[in-house]
Amino acid sequence: MGLIVQKYGGTSVGTLEKIKNVCKHIKETKEKGNKLVVTISAMAGETDKLVEMANILSKNPKEREMDLLLSSGERISSALVAIHLNEIDVKAVALTGRQCGIITDSSHTKARIKSIDAKKILKMLDDNYVVIVAGFQGISEDTDEVTTLGRGGSDTTAVAIAAAIKADVCEIYTDVDGVYTADPRIVEKARKLDRITYEEMMELASLGAKVLQIRSVEFGMKYNVPIMVISSYTYNPGTLVTWEDENMEKVLVSGIAHDKNQARITIVKVPDKPGISARIFGAIAEKNINVDVIVQNASEAGFTDISFTVARNEADKAEDVLKPIIKEIGASDIEVRKDISKVSIVGVGMRSHSGVAAKMFDTLAKEGINILMITTSEIKVSCIIEEKYLELAVRALHSAFGLDKE
Ligand code: ADP
Ligand code: ASP
Ligand code: MG
Repeated sequence: MGLIVQKYGGTSVGTLEKIKNVCKHIKETKEKGNKLVVTISAMAGETDKLVEMANILSKNPKEREMDLLLSSGERISSALVAIHLNEIDVKAVALTGRQCGIITDSSHTKARIKSIDAKKILKMLDDNYVVIVAGFQGISEDTDEVTTLGRGGSDTTAVAIAAAIKADVCEIYTDVDGVYTADPRIVEKARKLDRITYEEMMELASLGAKVLQIRSVEFGMKYNVPIMVISSYTYNPGTLVTWEDENMEKVLVSGIAHDKNQARITIVKVPDKPGISARIFGAIAEKNINVDVIVQNASEAGFTDISFTVARNEADKAEDVLKPIIKEIGASDIEVRKDISKVSIVGVGMRSHSGVAAKMFDTLAKEGINILMITTSEIKVSCIIEEKYLELAVRALHSAFGLDKE
């Protein structure tokens, strides 16, 4: 008997037939004597559809209303799951983020969970309910408004609840049977990993592997929650996200991640003097836009170029913010390039080996792929390249680092 949190992703509850299947699995888990909290995502495509509708009705929908709109997807699916569970004689109750005490900051559309009042969930578990929680949402501490947790945020709801109720495990059910060495939709020869460290998973998630939202992995690591990624089609043992240990495969690179959602902004001919970067990036930060890779060229005759990357869907917003600043700081122009992507190699093995980055650059060079920007950290190397070469780059690196399955 255990205390388990399960999360079912959008494709796993994409039709009423699939919802019935999920309910069958929940019933089986419950009948084994487990206590169970289940987080449900919106039905597949639902969140995209709601975003699209808002964008048709307004060029600039307010984030408050977007959160109200988007949180409804998860309410529908979680209520449907609870309705069917009751139909098949499983005592179940569905709760919204507010109803189960998920408190966030007030950063609409990308809020962070600050606390969860687990009393209500624990009481319901004691009363023998399966507690169904609408994923991806909470309530802002300051304003009492509905917030959402960023795309893929139901993963974070699940792991945060697992941490709050001290569950034995958080099971993430999805449309792949685990975490692979690269996105299996792009690399046919990708291999499923039996285990991966929190650190590596955090890097892969932040670099574009959307199988887990990065914040869910952060919660897992911080509160020591074992996370298991499992297929909702086969229910076979998947990938355990856990601490590094002796038994893990000793490899240099554990996985390749890619991210298409990138844009590069270049500010041309910037006067090379103190305070300029602070002005540029201060203005960007004020609008809550995340900057990723930053490169500043060597100065020539007192001028330099500054390039940086942002998520592609925030590039226009960043350009609008910067246009007036270009004049103010005396730069000559701003260029935005949206046909770029990021490819990254990740592995804790890099800590103790040199030459990994060089091998990456060499592999890309052999494929004739030009590197536009580079960034590294202790356990990853990322290159910004043209989007048209992205899939080629992922496959070539996967082979070069010995990750292809036989
Ligand atoms: P869900 O709707 O269940 O939350 P997501 O679409 O968010 O599922 O995440 C699962 C998807 O993540 C897979 O279908 C796969 O294409 C993608 N993915 C990207 N990188 C990886 C990886 N390294 N391992 C497994 N899946 C990956
Ligand atoms: N429905 C949200 C999304 O599509 C959250 C999630 O599925 O995790 O991003
Ligand atoms: Mg997801």
